[in-house]
Amino acid sequence: MNIEQFKGLARLPKFAIPSHYDLHLKLDLSAACTFSGTVKINLSITEKTNFLVLNANQLQVHQALFTTSGNQQYCPSDVVVDDDDEVVVLVFDETLCVGEGLLGIEFSGKLNEHLKGLYRCTYVDEGVKKNMADTQFEAADARRCFPCWDEPALKATFKITLDAPSELTTLSNMPIIDEKLDGNIKTVYFEETQVMSTYLVVVVVGLFDHIEDTTADGVKVRAYCPVGRSDEGKFALELTIKSLDIFTKYFSTPYPLPKLDMVAVPEFAAGAMENFGLIVYRDNEMLYSDSKSTARRKHRMSIVVAHEVAHHWFGNLATMEWWTHLWLNEGFATWVSYMATDNLFPEWNIWTNFLRETTGGLSLDALEQLHPVEVEVHHVHGVEQVFDDIGYRKGLAIIRMLQGYLGDDIFQVRKFTF
Ligand SMILES: [Zn+2]
Repeated sequence: MNIEQFKGLARLPKFAIPSHYDLHLKLDLSAACTFSGTVKINLSITEKTNFLVLNANQLQVHQALFTTSGNQQYCPSDVVVDDDDEVVVLVFDETLCVGEGLLGIEFSGKLNEHLKGLYRCTYVDEGVKKNMADTQFEAADARRCFPCWDEPALKATFKITLDAPSELTTLSNMPIIDEKLDGNIKTVYFEETQVMSTYLVVVVVGLFDHIEDTTADGVKVRAYCPVGRSDEGKFALELTIKSLDIFTKYFSTPYPLPKLDMVAVPEFAAGAMENFGLIVYRDNEMLYSDSKSTARRKHRMSIVVAHEVAHHWFGNLATMEWWTHLWLNEGFATWVSYMATDNLFPEWNIWTNFLRETTGGLSLDALEQLHPVEVEVHHVHGVEQVFDDIGYRKGLAIIRMLQGYLGDDIFQVRKFTF
């Protein structure tokens, strides 16, 4: 065996499977905008191997050590970082045996300006432009922040610790359990997540005002807005609470986390992202002003907020095995967002908008180079291309047809009695 066998692979080899990540990130938001970190990954070695192969992209790996449950330590003789394939291969002279162990890695990187992975954006504080940090990991960019098994099916729990400037708000998937101050830097400890995919991990560090409320089931919901604009977060907060109540009843499954935060950031590649427990919105998708915003904006916000909240059930709790089935994730979230909006605002007749919504899918579907809703993804470089109107809008149309064909009671399986 040699490391050439890992060139151009579509998927990571499965001779090591992660179950837990203990991730400590240290952010430097001064002009250099760099970060360093350590990650300790609980692994199950399922086949004897001289290699551990995981994802990393644009990271420097400084040190790695594998420790077995019997406390035997293995230091790799070579660490090969391949930025083309976005993998790091740890080569061991001795063979790692089947069993449990802990892989520790020290690494560092630079906050990029490409709106993916861990990236830098800016906010204005009393007329001065300052740096803040945000993440966007879907589909395959968690690997730009920390070395990991970055595939949706390889779920694990995450315990996240952040070092950040003490004057800023730090947000992640879970509530904060402890904080320590050392000069101008605070170390923030977050509660451990439940089992989830790497693409749903999130970290945001910035300056915000927030408002909050609680659902009927006791889930704390907070809306983080730019300083001085928290009034504009009220409509999104209200929509999120109502959507959580609707979906909890519709799916007969409670929302699984103690909190759901949302945050409006100034620079974001998509409209919003359903990170588990912390939805990140481009600011104009989350902020609403009664005096300035249009009725069309109100309709759009209802659809987007319900879509992101709905992903917490399918997508986040139940996840596609691989990106080939992304259309199910996005098609369902879009379909159910119409259902929720129709329930909340029946006077809007929102399903009439559905026809306009599907037009984008029809136009793409008319091209000679069309692809089916279910797309083979052979390499990570092709992943981004499946996030198009075929997946979202044709996916929505197919699910709407299926629901119409089967009828509500059968489609909503729990109402169906065998
Ligand atoms: Zn979505």
